[in-house]
Parts: sequence; C-alpha cells; structure tokens
Amino acid sequence: MSKLEIHQFPCLSDNYGVLIHNAQDNLTASIDAPDAAAIMAALDAKGWSLTHILTTHHHHDHTGGNAALKSATGCTIVGPAAEAARIPGIDVQVGEGDAYAFGSATAKVIETPGHTAGHITYWFPEDKVAFVGDTVFALGCGRLFEGDAKLMWQSLSKIVALPPETALYCGHEYTLSNAEFALTVEPENEALQARTEEIRQLRADGQPTLPTTLARELETNPFLRPSSPAIRKRLAMEGREDWEIFGEVRARKDRG
Ligand code: ZN
Ligand code: FE
Repeated sequence: MSKLEIHQFPCLSDNYGVLIHNAQDNLTASIDAPDAAAIMAALDAKGWSLTHILTTHHHHDHTGGNAALKSATGCTIVGPAAEAARIPGIDVQVGEGDAYAFGSATAKVIETPGHTAGHITYWFPEDKVAFVGDTVFALGCGRLFEGDAKLMWQSLSKIVALPPETALYCGHEYTLSNAEFALTVEPENEALQARTEEIRQLRADGQPTLPTTLARELETNPFLRPSSPAIRKRLAMEGREDWEIFGEVRARKDRG
C-alpha cells in the first residue's frame, strides 16, 4: 500500500527540494535540506509540519538548511553513519541494510558511495520510490568526488537491481545537458533520441524532468548501460569490465 505523498520543488540554482508526507502518522520529511527558506515555504503551502530530514550526503547544497530547519521545527535529522561528522545536527545514523521507520512507511538504506564516501539512498519499497541524492541523475550520475569508478559502479549496480518501476528522485535538474552528452555516447539509441525531444520540450515549458523511473534510465542513461554493445563499440572497449566502461563514460563527461 502506498503511504507517501510526495512534493517536489526547485530550489537554489538547480537543486530539487522534496517533501514526503506520511498522512497516516502525520509525519513529514524533507529529503536533504538545500535551502531552509524554500523548504519552509513549501511546508506552509502544503500545510505540513516538518518532523524529519533524511540526508543523503554531506555536501552543502544538501545540508545547508539543516541547522535552521532543526531550530525552527525540532525535526529529527537522519543521515549516513559513514560521514556523520559532516552532517550538521545529525540525530540518527544509518547504514547499509538498515530499515528506518518513518512511522508506518519503511525506508531501506542503501549505501551508494562514490559521489561522497558515505552517500546513501533511501528506498521505500512499498511506495516504489527511491531518493538517490547525487548518485543517479536523469541520464547522468554524480561526479566521483570521493570514490573511484569501480566503487561508484558497485553503488550504481545496487540501484540498477531495484524493481524497474521504482521512481527515482534526484538532487538536481541536470537532465538537458546530460541528454546532450548521452547522445554523444549512444547516438543510435532511439529511446534516448525520443526522450531528449521530450526533455527539450519540458525545459522549454519550465517543467521539471524529474522524477524519473529506473526503467527509463535503464533504457537511456549511458552511465547505467555499460553492457550496451553500441556503447562498447563506440568506446572501443569490447571485452572490458562493466565498471571500466562506466569509468570511461564518466571520464568523457568530466572532460566534456
Ligand atoms: Zn553532492
Ligand atoms: Fe548536490
């Protein structure tokens, strides 16, 4: 049974704020805290009271609002044990395999290091939704600030193994530039061509391209497709390991 109502809104320059509301237990969590004022305004608009922040990683554009929101609301801050020292106001530390009870809605914690060393994903299997922070973006993935390609590929492999119908909420609206890059890696991918047209239209209309679904990403996101024969051929890397293909795609994006 689905329990969560989800409200996504743009904030800062290209971040998304996301509120999740468990009406049955009258709980509301902010996924990360990019901007306290924007999150307070969104809470007001929905008539919800903040009870939790679920932190994915320590970067300032994901934790900058922690202190102000905690002092305004007394909310409980949940975050990754592996980088707890860098999460302002953290109350509850979680790690791989933990089940965090957001009232009657359970988040399964998946460690997805690579963008940062302690990055985590919150997966709500009953609601078929995962909050992936800066690990996966629509048609992209996070930069490898605190991990290498092999580690990040292990993390992405855990996301890839979720049910394909899972909705993915990501930290940033980077989709259009990701699409332009993706087309250089796999131009013959017709699903990617069609999706790029949709993305252009959505952005021209000022609409978000997120959330996405895992099924869509598996068809079109070059960072999740290292086994694609077309990608392997284009990179001249047939016969190499998936993580090596992933690493080359990431390196090309970084150079681009
Ligand atoms: Zn980040
Ligand atoms: Fe970020």
